[in-house]
Amino acid sequence: QRPVPSDIEAARSQTPKNIAELAAEVGIRPDEIEPYGWSKGKVSLQTYDRLKDRPNGKYIVVSGITPTPLGEGKSTTTVGLAQAFGAHLHKPIFACVRQPSQGPTFGIKGGAAGGGYSQVIPMEDFNLHLTGDIHAITAANNLLAAAIDARILHEGTQTDAALFRRLVPAKGAVREFVPIQLRRLQRLGISKTNPEELTNDEVKRFVRLDIDPQTISWNRVLDTNDQFLREITIGKSVQQEKGIPERQTQFDITVSSEIMAVLALATSLADMREKFGKMVVARSKDGQHLITADDIGVTGALTVLMKDAIRPNLMQTLEGTPVFVHAGPFANIAHGNSSIVADLIALKLVGSEGFVVTEAGFGSDIGMEKFCDIKCRYSGLVADAVVLVATVRALKMHGGGPAVQAGTPLPKEYVEEHVDLVRKGFCNLGKHIENASRFGLPVVVAINRFHTDTDEEINVIRGMALESGAFDAIVCTHWADGGLGAVNLANAVIRATEAPSQFRFLYDLELSLAEKMRKIAQDIYGATDISFTPDAQDQLDSPRRSRIRPFAHLHGKTHLSFSHDASVKGVARDFVLPIRQVWSAPALVSSAPLLAL
Ligand code: ADP
Repeated sequence: QRPVPSDIEAARSQTPKNIAELAAEVGIRPDEIEPYGWSKGKVSLQTYDRLKDRPNGKYIVVSGITPTPLGEGKSTTTVGLAQAFGAHLHKPIFACVRQPSQGPTFGIKGGAAGGGYSQVIPMEDFNLHLTGDIHAITAANNLLAAAIDARILHEGTQTDAALFRRLVPAKGAVREFVPIQLRRLQRLGISKTNPEELTNDEVKRFVRLDIDPQTISWNRVLDTNDQFLREITIGKSVQQEKGIPERQTQFDITVSSEIMAVLALATSLADMREKFGKMVVARSKDGQHLITADDIGVTGALTVLMKDAIRPNLMQTLEGTPVFVHAGPFANIAHGNSSIVADLIALKLVGSEGFVVTEAGFGSDIGMEKFCDIKCRYSGLVADAVVLVATVRALKMHGGGPAVQAGTPLPKEYVEEHVDLVRKGFCNLGKHIENASRFGLPVVVAINRFHTDTDEEINVIRGMALESGAFDAIVCTHWADGGLGAVNLANAVIRATEAPSQFRFLYDLELSLAEKMRKIAQDIYGATDISFTPDAQDQLDSPRRSRIRPFAHLHGKTHLSFSHDASVKGVARDFVLPIRQVWSAPALVSSAPLLAL
């Protein structure tokens, strides 16, 4: 076994080609790429418009077994597979991955550029800052947060007329509503368009949102794991001086914000703007109105802050194949997939002979389910195959192998042959294969080889995977060998995608919310049923929620087990999934008709 250097040494072993050269190679025109330095650039959404009549390439999603602290290598495999396709089989290829959050990057997980000789480079740029998209999200999110509190302050301290003058300032002698204000008037049932014509009562209804501070659901964000900002008290100076009570709020991590979710799910700049406008931030004191970003009047500002962030970032792998790095919602609490716009553009760029490999966070129960039921439903794209990444070591842990302690040597079970543990732990991979098959997709298992794995252990996984219905199971060595180590995997993916896709959604949109939850819990997690806490039941029964049009459903759940109990490895049996809270995010519901296959 020849030694593989550290991830950072491997990443630096190659000088990236100039981003303009890469863009030209993949068919992006010079006026469609805006370089940020030499090795990364933003790609214009016009690329999609130019190519919209070209057929799409094959669409491959990479998922994995249930994560363990041993790491499975999903990102490494996504990159290795892309390198195999592009640099060894010479097929048009794009990898589409998420931009990592600074939280995990500086936490236990570390970066997410892949590993060994299968990485996105420059690795530091990939992991930190990139082209500033996450910073833009932080700025947009916090602008809205500040505007909400400022609005409460102004409504608490100013007369209706003064508020009106502040919101609709006179430009010279003329006072005019801007479009977002006209929309608010429409929602209020006021048909006047000339500010001077509003009656006192109409002015009052227009300027007073009457936000109930207790119901504000919009938090501030920061892309750092800062435990000390989880619960804070704000308004200690300005509000108190003016007799307005301070309030408790919190900082969340930027990538968990709704702005990130909108970025990942938007299909165009106009769609992003519309989704921003519908984001709900609070309720009115009488409980009758949901207050949105449009009501606060900042939708345009949010959109302009995010106008560059919506363009996908072009980077490259160690072997010079193209990668889009764009958006990065977490997979356990959000939908865990890179942006729709990046996939749309990539599929056009590769054309009918090509492949797009995109990574969904965590296992088939988490990122892959949301990839199929949410991302594909909103994008209209049809997946062609699933690559499920498994390792001998992680399956041993699912089979009952000992826990690992950070900073201590791995227990011998993980570095010596233990075929029985692999056999026992296979149940986890088996359930993920079953889950992927429920979406009508062929499953290619990628056995990401570690140098301690034995042939016998690998053969057991391969044999059991084929018996469980996988299309194929391939051992790959792309971490040590780069793309060459994933050529067999790429060939298996080509064979798996030769037949037309039989992709289908798990549930019909017309099902009730509880029925959707039950279907995901039973079919994907293996639960016997679901139960609701009294709070969740109330939230489920709220009349407002039942009025919302059919929408896709997202479960926030631990990624460390099929069940809600992170300590349950392998597969979980005989459990009822407890639902603690029910939310709706109307902003995320697509304005275009959702596709029902
Ligand atoms: P995931 O996407 O599943 O979280 P990554 O692809 O980020 O996992 O890999 C996690 C870590 O494991 C990286 O540091 C990577 O270098 C390492 N790794 C991945 N595959 C292998 C392998 N076959 N042998 C040794 N280390 C590996």
